[in-house]
Amino acid sequence: MPPSPALVRELAYEHGFDLVRFGPADPGPDGQRFLAWLEQGRHGEMRYLEENRGRILNPDSWRKGVRSAIALGVDYGGPRAELNGGGQVARYAAGRDYHRWLRDRVFSLRQRLEREGVPHGTCNGGADSVPVLERALAARSGIGFLAKSAMVISPTIGPYLQLGELLTGMELPHDGLAPGSCGTCSACIDACPTSAIVAPHEVDARRCLSYTTIELRGFAAPELRIAQGDRFFGCDVCIEVCPFHKKSPLLDVHGDARPKDLRPHALLSRWTLVDVLELDETRYETEWVGTAMRRATRSGLRRNAAVALGNIGDAKAAPALTRALVDLDPVVRGHAAWALGRIGGARAELDAARSRETAPEVREEFDRALSAAR
Ligand code: SF4
Ligand code: SF4
Repeated sequence: MPPSPALVRELAYEHGFDLVRFGPADPGPDGQRFLAWLEQGRHGEMRYLEENRGRILNPDSWRKGVRSAIALGVDYGGPRAELNGGGQVARYAAGRDYHRWLRDRVFSLRQRLEREGVPHGTCNGGADSVPVLERALAARSGIGFLAKSAMVISPTIGPYLQLGELLTGMELPHDGLAPGSCGTCSACIDACPTSAIVAPHEVDARRCLSYTTIELRGFAAPELRIAQGDRFFGCDVCIEVCPFHKKSPLLDVHGDARPKDLRPHALLSRWTLVDVLELDETRYETEWVGTAMRRATRSGLRRNAAVALGNIGDAKAAPALTRALVDLDPVVRGHAAWALGRIGGARAELDAARSRETAPEVREEFDRALSAAR
């Protein structure tokens, strides 16, 4: 016999989830919004969303017989995180890789439910890695309301939410929608550094720093680089300005006082932006394993470091950026040139490197940098 809804909830709380709600397994009307968003190309290069659209809109085509979603949430609020000496890291990526710890909790809960009588194979899910509209399921289950920032905001613990879900063949009583709304607030829309929130509830990923510094491969759009500021990985602005963010119970919990999975990764206190710019393959494959930041790839991390260094404008970074002008990776060469152009004073080095450059895209970067460095 499957476990009672009360036992499912109790076991989920025991597995470290702060919020546990039951709801429909499909995204409902948000599915249509998702389709329109895809059709406008606002997902950028995240092709897996296009490829999985059928499964996302209709979970039954992915897992036969699903009836309910067990929506799960963990608060990850906390102090601002950055590399040694500067270079902001979004809070969700500052600790151990959340893909791992959250997935471990979800899978462990699933196994426990199977031991309690849920038939094997009838309960599936994960965290940020399964073809579902996670935020829509969370909102429909009552984890929180869908906010103008396109985030889900819990009326009790706020917007710093890591979401996971299990889709199950069990009939679970739906909890209904959470109370609350953004009301007349538009702080996130006004504060977004790249104007990526193009309408309430709608983010154009191609402009969003949480996409351009993580998912985007290759060159960053020149018009968005200055807006990146000193951010190295991701962006928290739309949450930081949200009045609900103060509800996070972990907001002022620092260092070792934080839950183990949410403590700042040791990398943050050791690595500087210049170190990352010079990150080699060996160190990437050893010291960076276990951080969510690997999602950006080594090339993307080095690109992000160059952009942040250019925006910080510290001339002490110029020697490392100059060395990077002859890097094997054209993306690193191009962004190092951009950063030097922004810092200024490296015309001879840029000229010399440009004369040897063969990649047209990088030559363009050198040209732009030389005009900026004038
Ligand atoms: S994460 Fe940053 S760039 Fe993206 S929508 Fe929020 S404020 Fe804008
Ligand atoms: S900042 Fe205001 S508009 Fe944006 S998500 Fe928060 S409450 Fe909603």
